[in-house]
Amino acid sequence: EGQDVGVGPKHQKEVVDGVVASTFEEGSCISRHQSHLYRKASPYKPSSYLKSKLRDYEDLHRTCKFHYKTMKNNDTKSSNKSDDDDGARNCKYLIWTSFDGLGNRMVSLASAFLYAILTHRVLLVKFQTDMNGLFCEPFPDSSWLLPKDFPHWEDQNQNQSSFRVLHLRHTNNEHYDFFHCVHTQQLLQKIPVLILESNQYFVPLLFSIPSFRKHLIKMFPVKDTIFHHIGHYLFHPSNEAWHFITKFYQAHLANVNEKIGLQIRVFDTERKPHQAILNKILSCSFKHKLLPVLSSPLKNHTSKAIFIASLYSEYREKLRSMYMANTSVESNEVIGVYQASHEEYQNSNDNKHNMKAWSEIYLLSLCDELVTTSFSSFGYVAQSLGGLKPWILKWSYGEQPVNPPCEEAMSMEPCFHYPPKHDCRNNSIVNVTSFFHYTRHCEDFGNGVKLV
Ligand code: GDP
Repeated sequence: EGQDVGVGPKHQKEVVDGVVASTFEEGSCISRHQSHLYRKASPYKPSSYLKSKLRDYEDLHRTCKFHYKTMKNNDTKSSNKSDDDDGARNCKYLIWTSFDGLGNRMVSLASAFLYAILTHRVLLVKFQTDMNGLFCEPFPDSSWLLPKDFPHWEDQNQNQSSFRVLHLRHTNNEHYDFFHCVHTQQLLQKIPVLILESNQYFVPLLFSIPSFRKHLIKMFPVKDTIFHHIGHYLFHPSNEAWHFITKFYQAHLANVNEKIGLQIRVFDTERKPHQAILNKILSCSFKHKLLPVLSSPLKNHTSKAIFIASLYSEYREKLRSMYMANTSVESNEVIGVYQASHEEYQNSNDNKHNMKAWSEIYLLSLCDELVTTSFSSFGYVAQSLGGLKPWILKWSYGEQPVNPPCEEAMSMEPCFHYPPKHDCRNNSIVNVTSFFHYTRHCEDFGNGVKLV
């Protein structure tokens, strides 16, 4: 049982054709070489301009890797440079720091990487122990981990001239109201070290800056593939996560006709209206023929797996008892209901908890169809990695049914929940979509914007 997971020369081509550099040694990151055995080939190919930008970035990362050692906290113009430092003299850094859940972290990290590419900065990540060992190193011959002896690791005192903290968290909305203004970018350009504090997918913001936009359009001719490509480049499950993912996949998902992923995030944790949410999921799934209606006999040779990602086990139990009672082995009608964990509560400071979250995001992304929860970046990451437009469950509090229960996403991009409202051109407050190019208001959160 299970599928062929052998990796030989015949499989190398896929790695080379994608966004990933071909120079990686295989054992250090098995998923980078095996993921195409689990995932359908993406219909979205990276542009050659994107690939060349990524290769340029990798060179920059390599060149600047150790340059920080010559930087001083207050002065980045080190006096005793050797000739070897010439190439590194202008090294500038963007340091990513983590906030909120894993989905939020991944969407802000992807945005940070794109900003680093566009501004010729080296991206370094300040992972605490809760983020250790989730992902492989993304850049060849180099590390993206912020070295412990990097200046400013401990001391984030704003009075130093050589760095600034960039607040792009939704709680600091007023700070990033001016981030997209040309003038702000000109000022930021001069600062050697930027420390990013963000939980947002701020890629649409980058599109509103003209000098960035022209590169972004060339890099991503198909606008809604940005996280899809950047995510596939950056986020490869570590060997530990890959072991968990592939073991689960082979046990439950490998041999079915269709995999339906249900991502069930409960924001109303006071009341946890499980039954109302389940009703919404069922009416969405029946309406769009994702799951068979129980009163009608199941078709012969149907084999579907329902993969549930949720902090709670109630959904699995209810769906399992519904379908178990109605399946018949003789006619090969099988609907399996599976869940990899049920953690009960969010615990984003715990490494093992994040490992499960990452594995489940990845497993969702391997499904053929997705039903996701409004406003959840956990679901956004899964859909974009999977190249899927999910059915998004309509937002509702309490027990009242909503009609329609769900809506198909316009695009697979994550939603930028809290865009700024400031129009730099005439210093006024505007409806955001009027200056965000290629965007619409998000289906699941009207204040937000997403690329389509
Ligand atoms: P969001 O809050 O829904 O936008 O998504 P985030 O990923 O940013 O934060 C939610 C966090 O709660 C996740 O990162 C996990 O730590 C936890 N969590 C929520 N749903 C699930 C789930 O289905 N499975 C697991 N393992 N953890 C979850």
